Amino acid sequence: MAFHKLDDLGDVTGKVALVRVDFNLPMQDGRVTEDSRVRAALPTILELANKGAKVLLLAHFGRPKGARVADQSLSLVISTVEKILGREVMFVPEIAGDIVSQAVGILEPGGIALLENTRFWPGEEKNDPELVKAIAANADFYVNDAFSAAHRAHATTEGLAHVLPAYAGRSMQAELEALEKALGKPVKPVAAVVGGAKVSSKLGVLTHLVTKVDHLIIGGGMANTFLAARGVDVGKSLCEHELAGTAEAILDAADAAGCTVHLPYEVVVSKTFAANPPSLRTCNVHEVAADEMILDVGPSAVEALADALKTCRTLVWNGPMGAFEMAPFDAATVALARIAAALTKEGSLVSVAGGGDTVAALHHAGVADDFSYISTAGGAFLEWMEGRELPGVKALEI
Ligand code: ADP
Ligand code: MG
Repeated sequence: MAFHKLDDLGDVTGKVALVRVDFNLPMQDGRVTEDSRVRAALPTILELANKGAKVLLLAHFGRPKGARVADQSLSLVISTVEKILGREVMFVPEIAGDIVSQAVGILEPGGIALLENTRFWPGEEKNDPELVKAIAANADFYVNDAFSAAHRAHATTEGLAHVLPAYAGRSMQAELEALEKALGKPVKPVAAVVGGAKVSSKLGVLTHLVTKVDHLIIGGGMANTFLAARGVDVGKSLCEHELAGTAEAILDAADAAGCTVHLPYEVVVSKTFAANPPSLRTCNVHEVAADEMILDVGPSAVEALADALKTCRTLVWNGPMGAFEMAPFDAATVALARIAAALTKEGSLVSVAGGGDTVAALHHAGVADDFSYISTAGGAFLEWMEGRELPGVKALEI
């Protein structure tokens, strides 16, 4: 796959760059709790600014659904952005029109401005050509540095690439190069681990995945929906019972494709969603009581998964195996992560993981650096893992 990079830019002094970044930062009580996405965008922003471009940053924040929502204004993250960049950043409460062109007039070459939350405008998610045109009117070129938003064909993630000279930013470039290197032609057998909580949004991925991988390891909340579909009583567990039909169809598709599906046969349960609860116990999946919740995969089931992993050469992982934020429900995730890391270090496994919580879990297990590659993206990583073309990436292709 070939795409334009920042190296292909000529002299940009005084030119206006629209740079799509991912500043969708986790916040609690009005404070940014995690800023790695800003740090990921720093090389691109500073490179352009240092070359004398006027940098206009575009990003979405939350899901305001096409309306101005005060607590989803990007003005809330500006101090974090300034601190990490070590530069002054002008906030512009619009994304197109006169206010933006005035801001461009005020900015010195090398100046940086953050435009308002793109999702305040309904045309963003609709990829409205009029909005695309209006945003593009204030700029000379477009840089996409938000791989994590590249699975959406929105105005600022896809549309702009068609109307302005378009380039991949440094973070986008690194992500694409690493994923291609690890998984362009994956060495078989390939295992996928899919867990976590976003069951409905991940079922679609599984449908595609079963035709591409040899082993599908299902854990986390995801497993409960599959167990329930197979007639297991999962008690009070996180479970989307209405998706039983979809889950069954996925299991059938896996059968037809020769993909071995691993569902936990042993689980760790509790009556309350709390750390080290008194009601904690490990049992067979068929022994979960009506008032219990499955919160992790049991230790012998993890051993069986480890044996399966040892036969594999490539691993893609999204979603923790249990409620890893609370002890001892991190045990299965930590154990499996350490096995994958050890196999990677031995050179027998190429391991790639992605997803916000997955990456946090791998850090918690102390093995994030031992994986072959870790992607910061969640949804985009999953779609990439399925082998789907990401519209935001496709639009950058030469
Ligand atoms: P990612 O961000 O890596 O894509 P998700 O957001 O889908 O992952 O899921 C992560 C969340 O899933 C974590 O907060 C974890 O506590 C939760 N989770 C995992 N297993 C269970 C379970 N059995 N029951 C409830 N929550 C679970
Ligand atoms: Mg998550």
